[in-house]
Parts: sequence; structure tokens; C-alpha cells
Amino acid sequence: MLKVNERIRQITGSTTLAITARAKELKDSGVDVVNFAAGEPDFDTPENIKSVAITAINNGFTKYTPSSGAEDLRIAICEKFKRDNNLDYNPGQVVVGCGAKHSIFNTIMVLCEDGDEVIIPTPYWVSYPEMVKIAGGIPKFLSTTIDNGFKMTPRDLVQSITPRTKLLILNSPSNPTGVVYSKKELEAIAEICTKNNLYIISDEIYEKLIYSDVPYISIASLSKEAFDRTITINGVSKAYAMTGWRIGYAAGPQEVMNFIKNLQDHSTSNPTSISQKAALAALSFPEDNIILMRNEFMLRRNLMMSLVDSIPEISYIRPEGAFYLFCNFSKFGRSATVAKKILDDVKVAVIPGDGFGAEGYIRLTFSTSQERIKEGISRIKSWVGVQQ
Ligand code: PMP
Repeated sequence: MLKVNERIRQITGSTTLAITARAKELKDSGVDVVNFAAGEPDFDTPENIKSVAITAINNGFTKYTPSSGAEDLRIAICEKFKRDNNLDYNPGQVVVGCGAKHSIFNTIMVLCEDGDEVIIPTPYWVSYPEMVKIAGGIPKFLSTTIDNGFKMTPRDLVQSITPRTKLLILNSPSNPTGVVYSKKELEAIAEICTKNNLYIISDEIYEKLIYSDVPYISIASLSKEAFDRTITINGVSKAYAMTGWRIGYAAGPQEVMNFIKNLQDHSTSNPTSISQKAALAALSFPEDNIILMRNEFMLRRNLMMSLVDSIPEISYIRPEGAFYLFCNFSKFGRSATVAKKILDDVKVAVIPGDGFGAEGYIRLTFSTSQERIKEGISRIKSWVGVQQ
């Protein structure tokens, strides 16, 4: 056996890869596959953002920037935090990374010591546990269920804390459930974390994709104690349809951010200079494009929910954010088998829930046109009919 770093050996390969590879194979051979598997907006990056990046190339903005990101971008990020989240960070407290994923990875690497426990509510975004393992920490899964709306309760949280607990990973709106925590719920979580001296990573990447009128709340904004123990993560991938540009960011207590900066100095250095200019434009322009995309996502969500409602064998909780409908398919067997069958039998690509820590569930993305949503759910409905 090849001798490699033991922590890397322990990482689980992506469970979604087999499905997406098979879906691509079918598509390439001319099969009409409906794609409910994507993890990104299907919209193109807005033209005005792209043109700023093209100008940046033409002007020679193609060299290293400061490792933590160009100062103008970090200032714009602080303004965004103030404007949208009522958070007062200074540019020295912001590190711009190669996507929110990179910023979360750096934060976990810095905060997690060998043997530290990290609380991860299930269902979770697939990369959190693997990142914790790479850092030498121990993922401690806090189970939530469809019956409690896939939200952790204060009681659940208290019960999962041990003397080794260092960190809680919070993701609201959530991938894969679309759950959004209310202010009151966040206050209770912040209070427990303060009492038990835990850090919080708040992954807010889907902040702009929320389908209710209740204002979005960042946990760090709730009190000085919460602010001092939270690393807030965000980025431009989902809000501005910029997944390929790879710009995310972390902001938090100065001491923590200094270590994150040092780690980034010696690993990736700065994220792409051109993408930074595009991200600066995205954060500075009016939000018209975001609003158009969000409104279309909301129509698609409503459409997908109403169509799935006509399939009594499948339940889900109404997603208040993000672009996923997380459905209980447990009547039909194990997630991985169900996802493979749905793809093979009716040519709809879906993501099995086991990779999110939710065996029996299937994630359907509504980041595709209303026409394709109708077609895909109609195929799933006929598939369910045949399984009886
Ligand atoms: N957090 C969550 C919950 C996500 O779903 C994703 C992307 N799938 C990310 C972070 C990473 O986003 P980015 O493209 O900015 O790395």
C-alpha cells in the first residue's frame, strides 16, 4: 500500500462523484438527463461583473496581491458586513480565500488542535467532517430530524458538549436542507457557546438566497460575546453566480485571523487577482441581479414543492433558503441505491443524502429552469409509481 499521510488516507472520497460522473457519461452519449444534482446557480455571472474582470486583465492587474486579499476588496467586505449584517470588522480582520470552502478549511486548521471535538449538526455540508479530520479534530455529529425541522435545539447542543469541544459549525441557510435559523434560535445557540467557551464558524454562503421577508441574522451580530468567538464565512459564489471565480472570505477575532493569514501566506497566498477585482465589483454594484436571481429561485422552489406535494410517498421540509429540496426517500431503500436507480431508470441526476449524514434522503437542486423542474419531477413521480 502506498505510504501517505494518515489523515489524508482517512478522508472519504466524494459520494456525489459517482452519480455526477455517470450523469455526464449518459449526457455525453446523447441521453436527455435532467440535472437536479448541481451545487451551484445555473445563471451566468452578471455581465457588468465580467467586464470589470476583463478590464482588470487588460490593465495588467495580473500580479500578486497581499496574501489576505487586496485592501480595496477587504474594505468592501467590511462595508458589506456593516450594511447587511451589522458587523463591525476592520480590513485587518478579513482574509480573502479561494472560495468559502478554502476560508472554512483555513479556519478549522487554525482552531482545531489534535483531539478537539467539533460539533457538526446533521444533515451537514459534505466537506465539514473531512476538514475537521484533516486538522486532527474529531467530528461530533449532532442529529437533527425532519420532525424538528432539521434544526438543533438548545438541549441537543448542550448535550453534545464535552470538555474537549472546541467549535460549533453553523450553516444557515443550510446546504442540504435550506433551513434558516431565527434570531431567537441563534441567541440561544450563542449563549450556550459563550457559556461553554466554544468558537463558532458561521457559514453564511447562502445568505442572499432567502425566501422569506424576515431579515437575515448573523450570529456574530447578536452580542459582543458572540462576536468575539465567531468566525463569519461568506463569499461571492452563490449570491452572484460566481462559483468558478473562487472568492470567499473569513472575518473574526484579530488573533485568530492573524493565524489564518499566516497559514494562507505559506499555502496558497492570494486568491486570483482578477477574481478579486470581479468580487469587488460584485460587492459594490446595486443588488438588482441578486434580486432577480433570488426571485426566480423562489418561483422554482415553489414549483418544485407543489409538484413533489403530489407524490405522497415523499416528504420534505420547506426550504427557507439556498436552492435545495431535501426529500425523504427512505421508503425506497438506501440513498445511494435510490439515486443510482433514479438516474438509470428515469434519467434524473440527484444527490444521495448519505454524504450529508442523512441516510434515506435525496437532495434535489432547483437550480435549473422551470421546464426542467416539471420534466424531472414528472419522471420521479412515474419512477415512484413503478416502485409500489
Ligand atoms: N458552504 C456551503 C454550505 C456550500 O454549499 C458551499 C458550496 N457548495 C461552500 C461553503 C463553498 O463555497 P465556495 O464556492 O465559495 O467555496
